Amino acid sequence: MFWDHAIETLDRASLRQLQLKRLQATVRRVARKVSFYREQFSQARLRPSHIGALADVRRLPFTTSADLRANYPSGLLAVGLDDTLRLHTSSGTTGKPKALFFSRQDVANAAELCARCLVMTGVTRGDVFQNMMTYGLFTGALVMHYGAEKVGCLVIPAGPGNSEKQLLLMLDFRSTAVHVTPSYALYFAGFLESKGIDPRRDLALRRAFVGAEPYTEDTRRKIEQALGVDVFNSYGLSEMNGPGVAFECEHKHGMHLWEDHYLLEIVDPQTGEPLPEGEYGELVLTTLCREAMPLLRYRTRDITAVVPEPCPCGRTHRRLQRIRGRSDDMLIVRGVNIYPQQIEQVLMSLPQVGRNYLIVLDGLDEMTVKVELAQTSFDGQVEHLVHLENEIVSRLRAEILTRPKVELVPPGSLPVSEGKARRVIDNRKL
Ligand SMILES: [Zn+2]
Repeated sequence: MFWDHAIETLDRASLRQLQLKRLQATVRRVARKVSFYREQFSQARLRPSHIGALADVRRLPFTTSADLRANYPSGLLAVGLDDTLRLHTSSGTTGKPKALFFSRQDVANAAELCARCLVMTGVTRGDVFQNMMTYGLFTGALVMHYGAEKVGCLVIPAGPGNSEKQLLLMLDFRSTAVHVTPSYALYFAGFLESKGIDPRRDLALRRAFVGAEPYTEDTRRKIEQALGVDVFNSYGLSEMNGPGVAFECEHKHGMHLWEDHYLLEIVDPQTGEPLPEGEYGELVLTTLCREAMPLLRYRTRDITAVVPEPCPCGRTHRRLQRIRGRSDDMLIVRGVNIYPQQIEQVLMSLPQVGRNYLIVLDGLDEMTVKVELAQTSFDGQVEHLVHLENEIVSRLRAEILTRPKVELVPPGSLPVSEGKARRVIDNRKL
């Protein structure tokens, strides 16, 4: 189950050599073609010839989301507009979007990497691939679409939503694979249930590629159970071509990042200093093959770690752990870095816990987690509640390495927000 066996299993020494050659070429190109990087290099008195080893990547400047916005629309282009083939954008919370250009080679490379990802999970040309991601300026659907076509699947560009139509397509064309966000996958599972559809009996689905939003192992299990599929975790970002940056293999333990195309670093989100392998920090990526818009040391703000051991599948490209959250969401409590996602993961693994929770920080670093009980577990028996509270405290302590207070509250008693839930209230006076 390899798309390109030679490159996917290339020995580490050759892979690193290839990375260095491509890094040097990228640095030389941006120094010539992109005035933003040329100025940064001259301020740092840096010349492309200073990059003699992979570790020298640390001498290069970081590129941030703000740099992409400041250079909107085409300030970071390394080719003429005539040599661009496609434009995607990535929207942020405020202001102008980030403009992301692709050359002909970039479009081809993106499809190639997606093909590697799909084949790695067992997809073949016989598959029917129902793409339930958003088509349009967002890279999510279109880039994977071309990857699935490259493998030779029948691709159905369904887009998200309209569950009646999704089901009709699935039934009539016997879709075997879907590409979907975790939130829509869960919603769709509920829709199937309401229609009396048993996916194992009525549908031909076998695999779901789930990404674009972080989700937990527990959510993976829920989707697998409800849709009768194997769920594979997918990671990408528009700044790096979109989907196909990293993907799970059949072992479903960490996502192989295609290191012949991306140079990865994990840094401390506060200091920007590199962290030892295996530690969680911010993922920083340098493009090694991008033609239209090469980016040096791009701060993804995604928190992850490298899986230290080699993978039994034989691929030599290192794996990333499931994304733990965004660096902007990081809390520092008693000197420990904590991500709300870690707390959510612990809470959602307990069936007695409901959907809502709130993290409150008070005084001098006091942390209280208010947890709504599930409807069914609220029997009013005090000893049950005390037992559950202790259980949550000890599980949280094991995960976040600090001991929070836990307060159980009745179902429906925490404020429900429209849209993105507010999970943290910080009243600390530090
Ligand atoms: Zn593997």
